[in-house]
Amino acid sequence: MPESYDDENVFARILRGEIPNDTAAETEHSLAFRDIRPQAPTHVLVIPKGAYRDFTDFAENASEAEIVDFIRTAGRVAREAGVAEEGFRVISNAGTNGVQEVPHLHLHILGGRRLGRMLPER
Ligand code: AMP
Repeated sequence: MPESYDDENVFARILRGEIPNDTAAETEHSLAFRDIRPQAPTHVLVIPKGAYRDFTDFAENASEAEIVDFIRTAGRVAREAGVAEEGFRVISNAGTNGVQEVPHLHLHILGGRRLGRMLPER
């Protein structure tokens, strides 16, 4: 049985306009905004406007239009933030082992400095 989506998660509330956000880009199907606790000089989150819990939920259930829009928005955000040339990282944490805090799919776009390599915890 598919896990249910929590309508009260913070990104659902941002999408409903109940919590402010620092928008970087907005399209028909996606919203990008700056992370409230940035881990790098550039730290932007890209979320779909639809109610998708995580990457697999989105991959399995989103329309092609939503998927294309989401990926193109992420690329555009990296380009417009000025990190595409020198390099950046895209992360999507999912579930317990992925240490996902907010149960609405999001990509972290991180850049603006040299990042540590991959996964710090063992
Ligand atoms: P994750 O651990 O992948 O679920 O990441 C959730 C991210 O959401 C964290 O980097 C938080 O700093 C960020 N975050 C939580 N609340 C907000 C908010 N209201 N506006 C912007 N970013 C937020």
